[in-house]
Amino acid sequence: MALIVQKFGGTSVGTVERIAQVAEKVKTFREKGDDIVVVVSAMSGETNRLIELARQISDDQPVARELDVMVSTGEQVTIALLAMALIKRGVPAVSYTGSQVRILTDSAHNKARILSIDDVNIRADLKVGRVVVVAGFQGVDEQGNITTLGRGGSDTTGVALAAALKADECQIYTDVDGVYTTDPRVVPKAQRLEKITFEEMLEMASLGSKVLQIRSVEFAGKYNVPLRVLHSFQEGPGTLITLDEEESMEQPIISGIAFNRDEAKLTIRGVPDLPGVAFKILGPISAANIEVDMIVQNVAHDNTTDFTFTVHRNDYQSAQQVLEATARELGAREVVGDVNIAKVSIVGVGMRSHAGVASRMFEALAKENINIQMISTSEIKVSVVIEEKYLELAVRALHTAFELDAPARQGD
Ligand code: ADP
Ligand code: ASP
Ligand code: MG
Repeated sequence: MALIVQKFGGTSVGTVERIAQVAEKVKTFREKGDDIVVVVSAMSGETNRLIELARQISDDQPVARELDVMVSTGEQVTIALLAMALIKRGVPAVSYTGSQVRILTDSAHNKARILSIDDVNIRADLKVGRVVVVAGFQGVDEQGNITTLGRGGSDTTGVALAAALKADECQIYTDVDGVYTTDPRVVPKAQRLEKITFEEMLEMASLGSKVLQIRSVEFAGKYNVPLRVLHSFQEGPGTLITLDEEESMEQPIISGIAFNRDEAKLTIRGVPDLPGVAFKILGPISAANIEVDMIVQNVAHDNTTDFTFTVHRNDYQSAQQVLEATARELGAREVVGDVNIAKVSIVGVGMRSHAGVASRMFEALAKENINIQMISTSEIKVSVVIEEKYLELAVRALHTAFELDAPARQGD
């Protein structure tokens, strides 16, 4: 008998009919004799709706604690509905909010981290044959305040519960049948991956593939939780996220392509080229709590240099203000910015053993006349910043150049 944690995302519980379908599915698993803990998200669109209400009443700046009290209600509705649907089908079930389980988190509202999970109640329920339904995305801090784990956080609840319960597998059920070489909504020729390593999945998630929340992958890697992404309502093997990096002949160099439109670029021009300048520019940015992603400092000429970096688009305006002040202080020539950028990244552990991957990427972009504005690399990824309007073209071109396209089907 296995212990399985199953997480169902927003679209999978988006209507009462779907919740009933999920209940049928859980019932089938239960009848096979496995112990089941189910984690659910809010009905699709509900979290957005709640956030919008909060914005309307608080001039776009809701108090973080109160926002958590509110958005956590989305998941509270779905756990109760699913438990009702299971009980109606003769499956004993009980629902718990994060605080009832006692999913203890730190107090960073809206982006809390899980510190520990009390498994006593859950184990007792499983022992007497109940299916336990837990609200995703939420926890409670030491003082009893409701916290939430950041958008997409139900994935992390699922994996963290699986780790705490030492489950045999954590299954993430969603509206696609696995992890694809890139977002199948953007590239119809994308292919489902049989397997992907934690390391690659972590890069994909960090670089914009929102199929799994970044923290859930971190957790799964750290505690070695067997993790699988599957379609909620279609049969299939899904994608297994694994530790092993199989050395097979067919192992592709690139496993996937990730992209995001979340960043904006800022450049400070004509900065005196002196030691300590990077610190003088980025120190005040980090003091303002703004995270910097990519950084490029150009070679100096005329004893001055240009310094470019990217931040999250939400931080663009505050970063620009901070940088303007720095520019005045340093006597720099000007500050320019651009929000119409996108970041495209190729990811794959195969890069470690292959040369020329970056140049193949640049060649494919050059063929499409796409200008590269910034580049950054790590052992298993290459990222470029390009003009946003070329994003989809770039992703498709790279998908083809790295031979990731699905074989054409008849009639294609
Ligand atoms: P859920 O509500 O179930 O948590 P999400 O919307 O968070 O679902 O995640 C599933 C979505 O992730 C898919 O519908 C797909 O568009 C998107 N996605 C982005 N990149 C990928 C990828 N590489 N593979 C599969 N899906 C991806
Ligand atoms: N309901 C939350 C969100 O929309 C958490 C989740 O779905 O994972 O972000
Ligand atoms: Mg999600």
